[in-house]
Amino acid sequence: AAASDVAGWTVYDAQLGSQVERARQLIADMRDALQHDAFELYFQPQARLDNQQMVGAEVLLRWNKDGEFVSPGEFIPLAESCGLILPLGDWVLNKACQQAMQLFADAGREFVVAVNISPIQFSQRDFLDKVRHALQSSGMPAHLLELEITEGATMHNELDTISLLHELHDLGVMLSIDDFGTGYSSLSYLSRFPLHKLKIDQSFVRHLLSDPNYLSIVHSVIELGKSLNLTLIAEGVEEPKQAELLRELGCAEMQGYLYSRPLPYDQLLSFIQRH
Ligand code: C2E
Ligand code: CA
Ligand code: CA
Ligand code: CA
Repeated sequence: AAASDVAGWTVYDAQLGSQVERARQLIADMRDALQHDAFELYFQPQARLDNQQMVGAEVLLRWNKDGEFVSPGEFIPLAESCGLILPLGDWVLNKACQQAMQLFADAGREFVVAVNISPIQFSQRDFLDKVRHALQSSGMPAHLLELEITEGATMHNELDTISLLHELHDLGVMLSIDDFGTGYSSLSYLSRFPLHKLKIDQSFVRHLLSDPNYLSIVHSVIELGKSLNLTLIAEGVEEPKQAELLRELGCAEMQGYLYSRPLPYDQLLSFIQRH
């Protein structure tokens, strides 16, 4: 028994070791990638549910690590764990504004561009200055930049959060709550924060047609958002029936594979020209 225990530990230890090793390697490679422009921005179009008109796009970070695609679901948490999310987040914010301006010129029309903001970026004292800088140096109009924050980002210090949100609001940028419904915050902040949009998390949308409990939740979220004058956008919409039901429930916008996958710049441009 002791021998197999020892063997068990050996196996476990080896697995843990290789996970730690991969994390360490990814962090080193990320630093390198940041310096050598190996990250790329993709854009996922967002549309109105009533007429399919494109109204915006969410910026999603992509990393092609020497031919291996690493998911942001893996590298973003690692970047957050070692502080690299700060320079990486700055890069995304500036690049998104620059590419948006180029897109508006190439496409001959404007739309809102939404950037994901890590709670770690959001809690930095100079975050407002960073946003101001990205707008000024690119010429991006503030009302076309949307910042997606998660409920977790608003948890640490509510007073600081409220004043930062008001300063961002005064700057003119759009503010949305990402993955709405999956966080732990109380709902009371919704009425006190100057928000524009709620993004209904894709986990709710996924079970919308099959589970009446999810239907009730989505229905309640939509009613709540409407009563607070917030725009509602459903994430992860993959099927026409989901879109139809969401529209009937009063949700205004959608994002998901049904309308479009996240696209690189050139494909987004031709998507816009076809829509
Ligand atoms: P998120 O902000 O909730 O982004 C939505 C995710 O859902 C994206 O995954 C997108 O590709 C995926 N998605 C979109 N439509 C559908 C659909 O119809 N079905 C399904 N199954 N999935 C869909 P992605 O690009 O892998 O990003 C994962 C997460 O990584 C994001 O979740 C976000 O939290 C984070 N992330 C991505 N880019 C950035 C970034 O620039 N900064 C920060 N801080 N986080 C980022
Ligand atoms: Ca997001
Ligand atoms: Ca989301
Ligand atoms: Ca998410």
